[in-house]
Amino acid sequence: MIANHRGIGMTSMRTRERMIKRLKDEGIENKAVLDVFRNTPRHIFVDEALASRAYEDTALPIGHSQTISQPYIVARMTEVLLGEQGEDLPRKVLEVGTGSGYQSAILAQLVEQVYTTERIRALLLQAQNRFFDLGLRNIKHRHSDGSWGWPENAPYDAIMVTASPNEIPQALLEQLKIGGRLVIPVGDYAEQRLMLVTRTASGYEEKVLDRVRFVSLLGGKQ
Ligand code: SAH
Repeated sequence: MIANHRGIGMTSMRTRERMIKRLKDEGIENKAVLDVFRNTPRHIFVDEALASRAYEDTALPIGHSQTISQPYIVARMTEVLLGEQGEDLPRKVLEVGTGSGYQSAILAQLVEQVYTTERIRALLLQAQNRFFDLGLRNIKHRHSDGSWGWPENAPYDAIMVTASPNEIPQALLEQLKIGGRLVIPVGDYAEQRLMLVTRTASGYEEKVLDRVRFVSLLGGKQ
């Protein structure tokens, strides 16, 4: 449980409560997800100059031409990753695209262990400081091209990708457990779809979800 970041004015609990109401109106139902959103200070994941806009339902720039995703999309992807009621909750999750660290911080409060990879070192360093400040100790991070996953800790119960490739990277499929779920936006900038891929004993099942817009999944590190 995160303490000591209650915020004032535009970052107050009242402002956050409005965000929760909006998420519910937009169809987010998982109570655990809503509670974690309520308790996670999104304003510390953006530049101070943008803090007053942190609880609007919008993506915001985080530097290096990247963005922190819109709260609704973070909530939606988290809900899909956790699965339906009655399904096993994922315990070990890989995230590709740490960015601001907001999505990792949300996941870390819902699952046992989060592994997150980011290709831009400067962003990863900032995210790492935020995890430390918030007392989130169950996030392991790595500066790498996450298209290759993080094989040393595989297999994962679930994988979430927060940048969009044209095609699903094979390595990510291979690093899923049987029964495991991959949530990933796929397509070019003009046309992307959020997809849920489930690994079965005999192969993979794909389900196309919402139309989305993410930054591109890029190769290499910087
Ligand atoms: N989950 C993030 C979203 C950040 S945007 C958040 O909550 O803020 C997507 C991020 O993916 C960017 O920071 C970008 O640098 C990163 N990214 C893009 N391609 C990547 C790759 N191949 N490996 C790891 N990270 C990548």
